[in-house]
Amino acid sequence: MKRKSSDLTEFYIQFLIVVYLLWSFPVLSFGQKEVLVPADGTVSEGEEQPVVALTFDDGPSGTSTPVLLEGLRKRGVRATFFVVGENVEKGENAQILREMSADGHLIGNHTYHHVNLSKMSAEQAQAELDATDELVRKITGKYPIYARAPYGEVPENGDVDRQRFYIGWTVDPLDWMTEDVSRITQSVLEKVEPGDIILLHDSYLSSVQAALRIVDALQGKGYEFITVDQMISD
Ligand SMILES: [Zn+2]
Repeated sequence: MKRKSSDLTEFYIQFLIVVYLLWSFPVLSFGQKEVLVPADGTVSEGEEQPVVALTFDDGPSGTSTPVLLEGLRKRGVRATFFVVGENVEKGENAQILREMSADGHLIGNHTYHHVNLSKMSAEQAQAELDATDELVRKITGKYPIYARAPYGEVPENGDVDRQRFYIGWTVDPLDWMTEDVSRITQSVLEKVEPGDIILLHDSYLSSVQAALRIVDALQGKGYEFITVDQMISD
């Protein structure tokens, strides 16, 4: 009787060990997947922070661009600005460009007169880009390497600007068609995915307000904002 009881105890112990192993193995492995930052501080592959690039065309604007720069500064966000040469030369906008550069934003070329580069000679297209290059260099000390062709129309002559990177976009809320801040914001938030390049225009106050709402929403989801040169080098 005593011996039987001891066998039964042994059986129960073995049974409990088997149950524990069956139960604990998947739990432990699921648990490890939930660890975002291991003890050594490195983030392992597949668990990287999602990134997105905000790009602003057609500025600078003396009224809306300073509001944007201030908002981005408060949020610790850097963006990419494709500026139009003739807008840089308006009013006090050179000072805005200087601040943009000092804040660490990337400045790109959007031609001097906001022209369709595919509808002109190679010489004219080059002159449009060169004029804005020179202006940006004079004010910030740096030549822009990146450009965005107005209307997305890159020069037809492939010999123009081999050293320049033309940057497109992947999310376009058509912000210039509406002053409805919520609509612009929603349009971006519905489509955006990690790695996207968002197109907005800092020449409109509604777009600027939407941009800051987009930043708040995406930062809340853990997104990091990077400039397009960082996006390309990734
Ligand atoms: Zn444009």
